[in-house]
Amino acid sequence: MQVFHTGTEWQTNWLKSLQSGKTIGFVPTMGALHQGHLDLVKNSKKECDITVVSIFVNPTQFNNPEDFAKYPITLEQDLKKLEDEGTDFAFLPETLSIYPEKPVLTLNFGELEHVLEGEFRPGHFNGVGIVVSKLFHTIKPDKAFFGQKDLQQVAVIKRLVRDLSFNLELVVVPTRREVDGLAMSSRNLRLNPVERAQALILYWSLTKAKDELLAGKPWLDVRNQIRQDFKETSLARLEYFELVHPEHFTRFEAFEPDQKSSICVAAYLGSVRLIDNLPIIP
Ligand code: AMP
Repeated sequence: MQVFHTGTEWQTNWLKSLQSGKTIGFVPTMGALHQGHLDLVKNSKKECDITVVSIFVNPTQFNNPEDFAKYPITLEQDLKKLEDEGTDFAFLPETLSIYPEKPVLTLNFGELEHVLEGEFRPGHFNGVGIVVSKLFHTIKPDKAFFGQKDLQQVAVIKRLVRDLSFNLELVVVPTRREVDGLAMSSRNLRLNPVERAQALILYWSLTKAKDELLAGKPWLDVRNQIRQDFKETSLARLEYFELVHPEHFTRFEAFEPDQKSSICVAAYLGSVRLIDNLPIIP
């Protein structure tokens, strides 16, 4: 596996020699890699000739400074995992090479800014959009791989690709879970044992709500009961639990079996914020 640190290095040393018909798959990450990230790498390796993985903890997408300061960093293990997975290139940029100066450009994703992650993490999608645009411009992939775990981020990146005419295909990879159902996340490393046990309520609430919806219980009753469950049975502090269209993220007040829909949840365990989602009608 080749490691590089700047876009110039990639473009002068590698990209030109690769361009003779080889397809490039790209997996952007913030490191602290787990099996969910490696699933993206596996998909890229299956679908593309060359796989590039970036590891960059992007400061501009953190609306909470403590979350940024405490974001787990496990670079040595990450590189070993990527190597074992057969990754061709790892891109480890320095912050200054991505942001020689603070961008003045801001991206606004319309309605997506006003619901769920957009509402509770102001500025987050601007930071994601800016860094992903920079990475796409640098790597020039044919395909880019993103996790369904960050469902609203997928919707944001789809808009970004369409609105800015990036010439690439997005591939969405299903959420990888621990055996007990907890969605894998780098932030899980920050949970203490009690929080880790309590974090199960995210997946538990999603599956319970899905079963009840499909059995005919009205959505607002389902949501009220789940809010109650969080208060009464868990240390987790619920931020949102919503039924949405998985692409536009319009919120539904009632379940329509002929409409695409997903339930999205965000909750805090101590100071660690976790998100998850479950498709109801894919
Ligand atoms: P992150 O390092 O958290 O920025 O995530 C990098 C990529 O991995 C994003 O496209 C995420 O959606 C994806 N990802 C994170 N966790 C999972 C998971 N449990 N299953 C599948 N993909 C994931």
